[in-house]
Parts: sequence; C-alpha cells; structure tokens
Amino acid sequence: DRNMKVHNFNAGPSILPNEVLYKASKALIDFEGSGMSILEIGHRTPPFVAVIEEARSLVRELMQLEDDFEVLFLHGGASTQFLTIPMNLLESGETAAYTDTGVWSSKAIKEAKLFGYVDVVSSSKDRNYNFIPKDFTVPPQAKYLHITTNNTIYGTQWHHIPETDVPLVADMSSDILSRSMDFNKFALIYGGVQKNMGAAGATVVAVRKSILGKVTRNIPSMLDYRVHIDNASMFNTPPVFAVYISMLTLRWLKAQGGVAAIEKINDRKAALLYGEIDENPLFRGTVVKEDRSKMNVCFIMDKPELEEEFLKFTKKEDIVGIKGHRSVGGFRASIYNALPLDSVEVMVEAMKYFSMKKA
Ligand code: PLP
Repeated sequence: DRNMKVHNFNAGPSILPNEVLYKASKALIDFEGSGMSILEIGHRTPPFVAVIEEARSLVRELMQLEDDFEVLFLHGGASTQFLTIPMNLLESGETAAYTDTGVWSSKAIKEAKLFGYVDVVSSSKDRNYNFIPKDFTVPPQAKYLHITTNNTIYGTQWHHIPETDVPLVADMSSDILSRSMDFNKFALIYGGVQKNMGAAGATVVAVRKSILGKVTRNIPSMLDYRVHIDNASMFNTPPVFAVYISMLTLRWLKAQGGVAAIEKINDRKAALLYGEIDENPLFRGTVVKEDRSKMNVCFIMDKPELEEEFLKFTKKEDIVGIKGHRSVGGFRASIYNALPLDSVEVMVEAMKYFSMKKA
C-alpha cells in the first residue's frame, strides 16, 4: 500500500486515493480492454466521451447543482479562470467586488483589473492574511462578488459563505468537494483539480448559464464559456488523462458516501491536528482560530531554531511535504480528501514525541 510508505502532506499537486492510481496505471497501458492506452484513444470516441460525461455529471450530482449550471473541464488551471471570469462577466466600466484573502485572490484581482473596475471590498493583507475579512458591503451595482473559499498558502477558510444579492463567484481550488455547502448559492465555481479532485492539467468550472452572454466584448472562442458549453466541454482536445483521473476520483468520493461523508473524516483530521498544535507547547497555529482551514494547517515553532531538526525527524517517520510556504514559514500540513486519518495520527505522534524529547 503506497500510503504505508509515506504520509503525503503536500499542498499540491497532492495525494490521490490509491485505487485511483491503480486504475489509472492500468488504463495507461490498456484502457478498458481496448488494446490502447487512455492516452492513445480518440477523445471523440464513445469510450472517452463516456468518461468526460461521467465526470461532468458526478460533479453535478456530488454538488447537487440546479439545472441552470453547466459543468466544464478546461485547460489552463485556476489561473486562466482569473481572466476568463471577468472577460465573460464584467463589461469595461462596470464594477466587480473582490475579497483579498491571499496570493491567489490578489492574482485574481490583478487579472480582473484588465477588464473592468475592481472594488476590493475587504482584505487581510495587513496581517499577512491570517484571518478572513468578513466585514464588508458589496456595492449593489457590482456584477459579481469573488471569494477564494480556502487560502492554500495561509491556511484560512471561509466557514460561512457570505450572503450577497450579486452573483457569487468562488475559487475553490483547495477545498472543492471537501465539505458540504449549498453550492447553489454560487453563480460560478472553479478550481484547478490537482488538490482534491484529480491531477494537474484539468480545471473544473461550474457556471450558471443565466449569467452568461451579457457583455458586449468579443470573447476569443477558447475563453468563451458558451462555446465550451455548446461543445459539451469538447471544443478542443480536452486534457484526456487529467479528466480521466478526475472521473475516477469523483467515483471514489461518491463511493465514500459523497461530500457529507468525507467532511466528517476531514473534520476529525483537522480537529486532531489543531488539537495537538494547541496543546503542544512547542507549536503554535498562525491563523485566527475561527478562520482555520480544514485543508491546509499552518503552524510555527516558538523556537524556530528547532524547525530544521523537526523536519529531519519527521522525514525519518516518512512524513513528507510539511515545510511551510516561504511567505508564512514554519510548517503547513495539507490534509486533503485523500489523505487518510492514519497519516494525521502519525504526524500527531511525531509532534508529541519530538516535544517530549525536547522537554
Ligand atoms: N487558487 C488557489 C486557491 C490555489 O491554491 C491555486 C494553486 O495552488 C491556484 C488558484 C492556482 O491554480 P493553478 O495552478 O491551477 O492555476
């Protein structure tokens, strides 16, 4: 079992369920007995059309999306969505509201400014993004409000989705399908799938058709959601292998009992790890408690001179990927859907043991 070898806390691309990797490795050689690799079959042949259609419908089913939504698998990562969203939704001279909760939302803001006026309605920048700035009003004329539901680098998360009268747009790259919420409160949901939902190379977009077609600018075909919708997410060659991995990951999630079931396990993992951070005198969380992320757990040591030693110690325990992002320092343990509870238990034991040795 691969997970018996290392405990993978990487922030992304990150851990996938074992059974997804086994199935995908088989399909790499022979896809469903076709005598061809999944990389060799035509993307418009019925077996691959079935794969992308199943992936699209599993997203719809797991999020319980209303009929107005269309689900697309696109290229270009969440970063291309930073510009595609304002290009499709924001007329030059109109306003879009953005919350600034970290590097990724500021990148989204930078791109939106190329297309219209951006009102940054709240920001936690002056405290190195260690909380979610929830106190704001959205100007009524805003075409949409953009939030980043989980801030991968700083380890903060919106636990209550803001109520707003304007269409709500969300970058869910690092917490998509990790917790239950009313996904129908959103007008557009997007994310690179490489953390909770598959492999790098595919980007998922769930968009309400009713918000499209309202800007007058000419939109290049590859960046026009309506073109992708009209072509059933097959306008050009889709990222075939990445879509296949997403389909398998979505099937796995459904077999676990769906979003509500995985949320229970995610809650236990997060409670265990934050519990240790709060109890153990060597460690300290970096985020305001009520805004702590259940996906990316950031913490530091009061004695930073011990950090290297802790990293070396955990490496011997086969714990990988916990070095913090350079803008926060310390440690970041990413505990996405596919990370087993076992791995968190091993991590917590390592923290306890290290602390005991240093006492
Ligand atoms: N948004 C968030 C919240 C992320 O964590 C990331 C990547 O880590 C991105 C956007 C960028 O995604 P991509 O690399 O798919 O463009």
